[in-house]
Amino acid sequence: MKNLWDDQEAARYQGDLAQRVYTSRLLGRNPSLVLHGGGNTSVKVQETNIVGETEDILYVKGSGWDLATIEEAGFAPVRMPHLLKLAKLSSLPDPQMVNELKTQMTRASAPSPSVETILHAILPYKYVDHTHADAVVTITNTADGFDRIQSIYGNKLVIIPYVMPGFDLARVCAEKFSAEAGEQTIGMVLMNHGIFSFGATAKEAYDRMIDLVNLAEDYLKQEGAWELEKKQPIVPTQAITQSLANLRAEVSQVAGFSVILNRQTDEKSLNFAQRPDLALISQQGPATPDHVIRTKRIPQIGRDVRAYAEAYQTYFNTEAAKVKDPKTMLDEAPRVIIDPELGLCTVGQTAKSAAIVADIYQHTMEIIERATQLGGYQALSATDIFEVEYWDLEQAKLRTGGTPPMFTGEVALVTGAASGIGKACVESLLKRGAAVIALDIQPEIETVHKRADYCGIQCDLTDETAFNQALTKGIETFGGLDILVLNAGIFPPSCRVADLSQAQWQKVMNLNLDTNLMLLRECYPFLKLSFKGGRVVVIGSKNVTAPGPGVAAYSVSKAALNQLIRVTALEWGRDRIRLNTLHPNAVFDTGIWTEEVLTARAKHYGLTIEDYKTNNLLKVEITSRDVAELATEMCGPLFSKTTAAQLPIDGGNERVI
Ligand code: ZN
Repeated sequence: MKNLWDDQEAARYQGDLAQRVYTSRLLGRNPSLVLHGGGNTSVKVQETNIVGETEDILYVKGSGWDLATIEEAGFAPVRMPHLLKLAKLSSLPDPQMVNELKTQMTRASAPSPSVETILHAILPYKYVDHTHADAVVTITNTADGFDRIQSIYGNKLVIIPYVMPGFDLARVCAEKFSAEAGEQTIGMVLMNHGIFSFGATAKEAYDRMIDLVNLAEDYLKQEGAWELEKKQPIVPTQAITQSLANLRAEVSQVAGFSVILNRQTDEKSLNFAQRPDLALISQQGPATPDHVIRTKRIPQIGRDVRAYAEAYQTYFNTEAAKVKDPKTMLDEAPRVIIDPELGLCTVGQTAKSAAIVADIYQHTMEIIERATQLGGYQALSATDIFEVEYWDLEQAKLRTGGTPPMFTGEVALVTGAASGIGKACVESLLKRGAAVIALDIQPEIETVHKRADYCGIQCDLTDETAFNQALTKGIETFGGLDILVLNAGIFPPSCRVADLSQAQWQKVMNLNLDTNLMLLRECYPFLKLSFKGGRVVVIGSKNVTAPGPGVAAYSVSKAALNQLIRVTALEWGRDRIRLNTLHPNAVFDTGIWTEEVLTARAKHYGLTIEDYKTNNLLKVEITSRDVAELATEMCGPLFSKTTAAQLPIDGGNERVI
C-alpha cells in the first residue's frame, strides 16, 4: 500500500483542522482502507469561545461524510471535558449517547458526530485515524487472529477483542488502553472491525496507518495468502441476461416492490462464485460490523428464488422483525446473491445502494478468500451480527426514511437521450427515482451524468446487434427494464412528394418506424417482467393528426408508428404493458432549431420569433422539459389505467381540435 503524502499538496492545508482534512482524504482515496463512509478520523484542538474561555475541542468526522471528499465542515466540534466524563459512566444507551454528543457541539449546524466519538476522545493523542483496512480485517477474521495480530505488531498496538461499536466499545477501549498502552504504543486493533493509528501531527498518524497496514499486507504475502487464483471470466450471453431479469422480477415479487439488481462479472467475482467451497466460505457472515449494516446477512447462493423467499420469510417471522415497519423489510433480505453463472448480484432499492453493496462485497470476497488461504475465515458470531443489525441507532435511521420517489427501484430506457426531449426525459426520470439507460448516437451520451443510476451508452439504433449489446449492458447494470421512452427520430429537410426519392423516404422510415419496431420487440421480454407492469411512451408528433406540406416522409413515419403502438397496445394489454403517445408541436429548444432556422421560419410566416414560438391557442411556449415531464408522468400512477392514449402537448392547435 502506497503512502500518498505529498509535501507540496500538504502545504496547501494550513492549520490543525485543514491538515486533518488532508490526510482524511488520503485515507479515503484508498478503498482497501475505507469504503463508502466507513472509517473515521479526529483532531484535538484548543479554541477560544465567544465569552473568551479556552476550550478543548475534539473535531471528529460527522456522519454522512465520506473521508475521500470530506471538508472542514464535515467535522463535528465536540467539547472534550464532557466526552471524558461520559467515558467514565458504567453504561450509556446508544440513543442517549448520540444525544449527549449532539448537545455538546460548539456549532449547531455541524453534522452528527460519529458513534465512535467517545473512543476518539479517550485516546490521548492529537490526531487519531481509524480505518477498516482489508488486510487487518483479513487477519483478525481467522480462528487464531488474535495471536497472529500480536505476533505482527508486538507492543506497538493495543488489541481490543470484538465489541459492538457504540458506548460499550469506547468503555472497553478506555479500560484496556489505560492498562496496556505504553511509550511504544502507536495504534490499536479492534478484532473483527479495524485499526487505529495515532500521531502528534496529521502526517505522523497517517504514516503510521500506512506502515501498520503494510505490515499486515506483508504478513499475508509471507503466509502465501495474498495472491489469489484467477480464472477466465464467462462472457455474458443473451440467455444469462434474461435469467438475470427473471431473478430481479422474482426478488421484486418477494420484496413487494421494484428493486435494482446489479451484476458484477469481473474475474474476481466469477472466481469467487465458482469456488467449489462457496457454500462453506460465503455463509459465515460479513467481515466487520460496518459490512453487516451495508450488505445485510449472509449471501444467497444460486438463483433459485424460492430459497431467497424462504430466507426472507424466515427472517420476517423472527421476533425482532415483528417490531419493524414492513416497508423496510427489504433491509432484512439478503442483499447479495452469488451464482456460478451470474457472478455477483447485489440487490438495492436504488442503483446507488446496489452499487455500494457490490463495492463492499468485492472487498468482502477478497477478505474471505485470503483469510481462507491463511487457514480459515471466521466471521463475527451470529449473535454479534444480530446485535449490530438490530442496533437502535440503525433502526432509527430506517424509521427516518420518508416516502421514496415515484420510480424508486425501476429502470427506464430512453432513446435519442443526448439532447432535446430525450435529454429532458432522462432528467425527469432520474428526478423521480428511476435508474436510466440512456442511448444516443452521440458519444457524449456516456458522460452527460456521472451517477450510479445513470448508464449512458453510445449506440446506432439502426444496428440491431449494437442495440442488443447496449440493452444487455443496461440490464447487467440495473437488472431489468420497466419503462421505455421511444424518442429518437429524424426530421428531414422539407421536400415535396414530387421530389422525394426512395432513399430519402427509406432513411426516415428506417429510423422513425422500423427501428422502433425492433426496440419494442427486443424490449418486450423485459417489459413484461416489470413488477408494476411495463410502460412505453412514444414521442409522436402533431403531424400525425395535422400534417403539413413538405414533410411527407416524417408525417407518414410518425403516423405509421402511431398505428404500430395502437396494435401493440392491443397485443400487450394481457402482459400489463401500457403504451401511450404524446403529440408535441413546436418544441423549439432542441438541436434542430438553431437561431438561424428559427429566424427563417418566423419570417416565412411573417411573425416575430416570439410570436412564432407561441403560435397556439394558449399562446404558450412548449419546452422539451414540458414534454418530458408529461411523458414521465404517463408512466406513473396517474395514468396506471390508461393505454393506447394519444395526448397532444402543443398549447392547443385549431387544426387538431
Ligand atoms: Zn469502525
